[in-house]
Amino acid sequence: MNRRNFLSNSGKMLALSGLAGLSQRGLAGNLLVKDTQGQQDKNNDEMLYRTLGKTGIKLPIVSMGVMNASNPALLKAAWDAGIRFFDTAWVYQRGNNEKMVGSVLQEVGAKREDVTIATKIKLGTDIKGKEAKELFLERFDESLSRLQTDYVDILHYHDVQIPEQINDPYIREAFTELKEKGKIRFSGYSIHIDWPDMVKDAAREKFYDVILLSYNYSMYDDQRVADSIKQAHDAGIGLIAMKTQCQQDWYKRNLPADQKSFYGEKNMNTALLKWVLHNKHITTAVPGFTNFDQLNEDMTVAYNLEYTKEEKEFLIDRNVKLSIQSVCRQCGTCTESCPGNADIPNLMRTHMYSVNYGNPLMARMTLDEIKPGRGIEACSNCTECTSKCKYQVPIRERINDLVEIYG
Ligand code: SF4
Ligand code: SF4
Repeated sequence: MNRRNFLSNSGKMLALSGLAGLSQRGLAGNLLVKDTQGQQDKNNDEMLYRTLGKTGIKLPIVSMGVMNASNPALLKAAWDAGIRFFDTAWVYQRGNNEKMVGSVLQEVGAKREDVTIATKIKLGTDIKGKEAKELFLERFDESLSRLQTDYVDILHYHDVQIPEQINDPYIREAFTELKEKGKIRFSGYSIHIDWPDMVKDAAREKFYDVILLSYNYSMYDDQRVADSIKQAHDAGIGLIAMKTQCQQDWYKRNLPADQKSFYGEKNMNTALLKWVLHNKHITTAVPGFTNFDQLNEDMTVAYNLEYTKEEKEFLIDRNVKLSIQSVCRQCGTCTESCPGNADIPNLMRTHMYSVNYGNPLMARMTLDEIKPGRGIEACSNCTECTSKCKYQVPIRERINDLVEIYG
């Protein structure tokens, strides 16, 4: 199937099942568009759009991270609500996530040029050089086939952890070849761990067009993060935020009961998403909503970034800020302190997928990708790392949780 004809055989709109209360102003073909690059927009009648760096792609500020979703009806509802950018990956749900994206876009009759698709290829830090390039290209062809398209808009090197991965000349060759063949429009990478320096490097080098960042309110006081985002934006790199609301469970668990009921889940959810998008250098966020209520909440942000009184109070609440102390920012500072050389950032990420996301498959995969000898077995309960973490993440307790689950 060629680009032009991709996904154009249906055209029928699907009912907004399960979306009671969501305005129909975002229905496909009837979008009101307002570009908010560089402004905190207060208008709540039009969907807010921004441009993704030098790619020129215009996107609604709220998109969909499909990772945790397994219900095709949720994707259809996202499309009907006006979401036009879907972020998936070769590795999600062992390929079923890409298959679902491909078949839903067919079903809703999305014209290929009206939808932006990103997928990601993960290799791990041990695979490099010629072997990395071959595997990268092989996996990408599988992705194209599952997505039922002949190109994707953005291809990310997924979950990079060290500069050598993105600087590998063979990987860069792969991206260049794919662009030349028209199989991808733009190249990028996704990054969770200690990313400010790598993002600054990318800004200097200008090889990558887009970066998908783990970015959320736990970083509100981190100047390195703010500076690197600005630098990348100024260099024309398109920035997309993921893991935007992943700390919600920590807030919910740590806040006193009366405050939990005062703020309510919706206020936390929308406050956290708005905070991310108040950074005008972030083009769009890809929240990983898994149900219709969460989609409904996130879509209110797509139209209006102004904080409500409750959202403002939530963000400045001392207890909320204190609860942030327990969020692992993946900075890697603790790693050297561990006598067992445990891969603490990835163990904390495993804990997040397992306990906060309730996504046991991603948790298991993240745990399995940790190098042998650096997983839960490396921890001897010495507590050294906790004293090195300036955010006071209860590392040992979380590793003990993982031992309970996976040991
Ligand atoms: S546990 Fe603390 S020091 Fe270690 S990566 Fe997370 S935030 Fe950084
Ligand atoms: S508590 Fe475990 S992870 Fe932390 S420093 Fe000690 S051995 Fe390493």
